[in-house]
Amino acid sequence: MAHILIVEDEADLRDMLSESLEQAGHDTLTAGTIGEARLKLEDSSPDLLLLDWMLPDASGLQWLRQIRRIKKFLDLPVIMLTARGEVSDRVAGLDSGADDYLIKPFSLKELQARIRTQLRKHNGGLQPERIELGGLALETDTQRVLAGTHEIRLGPTEFRLLKHFMGHPERVFTRGQLLDDVWGHQVFIEERTVDVHIRRLRKALEPSGRAGLVQTVRGAGYRFSTRKS
Ligand code: CA
Repeated sequence: MAHILIVEDEADLRDMLSESLEQAGHDTLTAGTIGEARLKLEDSSPDLLLLDWMLPDASGLQWLRQIRRIKKFLDLPVIMLTARGEVSDRVAGLDSGADDYLIKPFSLKELQARIRTQLRKHNGGLQPERIELGGLALETDTQRVLAGTHEIRLGPTEFRLLKHFMGHPERVFTRGQLLDDVWGHQVFIEERTVDVHIRRLRKALEPSGRAGLVQTVRGAGYRFSTRKS
């Protein structure tokens, strides 16, 4: 199951795509214009983008170039939907950062296959991941963190922060690095925001006696370590 953002201005095609992808077990969001798509992309962080080429307010291709300049969307799988006869444009599409393209009309079966391929390619988008370290188990598909059988409730930012730490144990991160890696391209966030979320994360880990895993490294930043600091 993946979260898929469908950007298509032909309402019938958009509804049909949404319906069939939902039937295949995905969650879909739809947009009919680039303006709408821009908001939904920011808000929902989809796993894959289906992007029509010609849209009423802008070209899907131009928007794709903009998206690819944003760090957190560098790896977002994008499949372009293009009209027949735009053969030379196919090359332009791939140059602009599309991972694949489909020429209209295409079969739903073909679309499903291309989606599966992209999700597999992009760090196993559908593969459940489980990281076990320091007595904690973090599951990315269910977004749960367990200490033994006890579930630790975390907000989405604390979850991402912990996932990042557990994926890079013992490594020291500066606040700036954590902002880049965990928050992505959000220029209005100050470095002390990191401290706020570190505190929340420690507080959530406290009852299970695991707060000491998130360590302050003086003059440098933070690390996740199973050794005593
Ligand atoms: Ca169109």
